[in-house]
Amino acid sequence: MGSIKLEKVSKSFGEAVVIPSLDLEINNGEFCVFVGPSGCGKSTLLRLIAGLEDVSGGRILIDGKDATDLQPSQRGLAMVFQSYALYPHMSVRSNIGFPLKMAGVEKAEIDRKVEDAAKILNLTDYLERKPRQLSGGQRQRVAIGRAIVRSPECFLFDEPLSNLDAALRVNMRLEITELHHKLGATSIYVTHDQVEAMTMADKIVVLNKGNIEQVGSPLELYHSPRNLFVAGFIGSPK
Ligand code: ADP
Ligand code: MG
Repeated sequence: MGSIKLEKVSKSFGEAVVIPSLDLEINNGEFCVFVGPSGCGKSTLLRLIAGLEDVSGGRILIDGKDATDLQPSQRGLAMVFQSYALYPHMSVRSNIGFPLKMAGVEKAEIDRKVEDAAKILNLTDYLERKPRQLSGGQRQRVAIGRAIVRSPECFLFDEPLSNLDAALRVNMRLEITELHHKLGATSIYVTHDQVEAMTMADKIVVLNKGNIEQVGSPLELYHSPRNLFVAGFIGSPK
């Protein structure tokens, strides 16, 4: 449950080739971080996996099954955006429950699932508040709550902490990896921040211009960077 495989995945926007051809395997339960400079195609790759963009070529397999043509809602994935993607006029309860409401789940079950998610995320006392009445970290937790409420097998995070201040980022890193383990999920986490990659990942995928420069554990990349790009990005001399 929760494995993802990309086979010769490519993506172009018109003439612009953003991802030439990419092969990658992410195992069940792994915390995989995509890292690379701005514009290298991290978000595009995540959106292809989520089904928010169509591939130009290649296949995406989820749990061994071809998911290339499935709608986002059929893929068993949940995407966590930056915290400002909350609905400002809705309570925390309604924000977290929104995906279930859209899926036609009945109210009693929505309430139960929202309350379970709130417990995991320490938001129980904040369910009737509006997003503007919360701190940055609490807002980010609500955004995560909206993702976990559907019990996905896989989480996709796109730079979820980039709006938060430095101290809070450190806390949220820990909270996200703890949650990942608690839920037994597979996670893909996009960042341009080397420290986040090194501290959170089981597996790091270093991207450059839509190509994979290297895949490995933080220690492998640190001690045996394959080239100067990886060395420069991960921060050890080659
Ligand atoms: P990253 O997340 O690594 O910063 P992106 O995946 O957002 O990079 O973007 C990679 C490249 O693809 C950039 O050059 C960007 O301009 C281009 N791009 C992304 N989305 C679109 C789109 N919808 N239409 C055209 N170009 C796009
Ligand atoms: Mg991006």
